[in-house]
Amino acid sequence: MRVVHYPDPILLSPAARVGVVTDEVRLKALEMVPLMRLEDGIGLAAPQVGWGVRLLVACRGGDDDAPIILVDPEIIEKSGGLEEDQEGCLSFPGINGDIARYRNVKVRAHDLENREVVVEAEDLFARVLQHEIDHLDGVLFISRMSPADRQKSKPLLAELVERHQKRSPDTP
Ligand SMILES: [Zn+2]
Repeated sequence: MRVVHYPDPILLSPAARVGVVTDEVRLKALEMVPLMRLEDGIGLAAPQVGWGVRLLVACRGGDDDAPIILVDPEIIEKSGGLEEDQEGCLSFPGINGDIARYRNVKVRAHDLENREVVVEAEDLFARVLQHEIDHLDGVLFISRMSPADRQKSKPLLAELVERHQKRSPDTP
């Protein structure tokens, strides 16, 4: 398992619902945790490892370093207004930009034991959840950047596109 980078097409398409968590899904989801840590991330969505399902791993931050794994997550409440802060993404190495996110979100999902969970998140954790759930919808943080930040990241984006083309022999 490895992290796929922009512009891999799996990052641009909405992921499929998981439904009931099988052993296979559970094992694969658990593999994402050490990968996220290895890459120094605080969140990782399944499409970012080339897996087109609605599942994410995220760190709560603070003293609680056990990451949470959410299956078929849905934002059911957004509050606290929008706040801009710097964001990066493991699928966009070297690229950062200010992104506006809700300060608080409430997310309904299932855990790996198929139990319903409702997670209340604020600040950085809320930001991570919104970023990762965007991934499940095929929405990338560059599309939420200000035109200025997007302009700034253009050379790096072009480099990623070039690297991707070298990697995929079927691309002209
Ligand atoms: Zn990301």
